[in-house]
Amino acid sequence: MKGALRFEKALAYALYFSGLYAIFKAIKRGSRDARILTYHRVGFGRMVARDSFDRQMVYLSKNYNVISFSEFLKGMKDGPVKKKSVVVTLDDGYTDNYTDAYPILKKHGIPATIFPIAGSIGKDGMLGWSEMKEMEKGGLVTFGAHTLTHPRLSGCSKADAKKEILESKKMLESQLGKIDVFAYPYGGRADFNGETKQIVKGSFSAAVTTIPGLNNPSTDVFELKRIGCSHENSIIVFKVKVSGMLNPFIRLYRKGG
Ligand SMILES: [Zn+2]
Repeated sequence: MKGALRFEKALAYALYFSGLYAIFKAIKRGSRDARILTYHRVGFGRMVARDSFDRQMVYLSKNYNVISFSEFLKGMKDGPVKKKSVVVTLDDGYTDNYTDAYPILKKHGIPATIFPIAGSIGKDGMLGWSEMKEMEKGGLVTFGAHTLTHPRLSGCSKADAKKEILESKKMLESQLGKIDVFAYPYGGRADFNGETKQIVKGSFSAAVTTIPGLNNPSTDVFELKRIGCSHENSIIVFKVKVSGMLNPFIRLYRKGG
């Protein structure tokens, strides 16, 4: 992980300061590719510091169309997705999503989708129902399912995978509104399989992976790509990442490493 982060940073700086980033952005200006960003923990001493997250949200609101997951899905199905679209997602459901990220999202009017691990709700350091309900009521935050215990679904029996996927949805829906989106735990190519996807397809409208990339109407909505920003505290690297320019390099690096 550390090697990958150093690689991303070095490459992002090279692309940014060589001027290639500006050229790439100019070429892609009219593109309708949509990006979904992945975060985990936000706050003091967390993966993404509170002030970095704030700066990133300001940048997004000035330079992109930050849309809700449902608006994005509607665009994917009925077209078109707005130009320069961004969807913000946070995985696992840490308490800091409420204490640190939510005030910043509110300040800038940025919608986001949180994928809590259903079996961890209310545990130490994790979101509780009242916090989740408050955020849902506020209208900016929606929730998606992310299993009960965060297993690698490709390693589960069919019965276990079914339980993890369907029970987490049920559990969230017992307290919140309709849960329509799913996030595969770990989310890489090898972390889910055809069987897992079939189960998800039966009960959800879409699913996100952690496979790096942008999304367009030809992207499988049950294998949506995301851009990992979980550890990103550099605004320069963030800008290059959000443009989508780093994705092919990250995919290559992952294959090699
Ligand atoms: Zn997760």
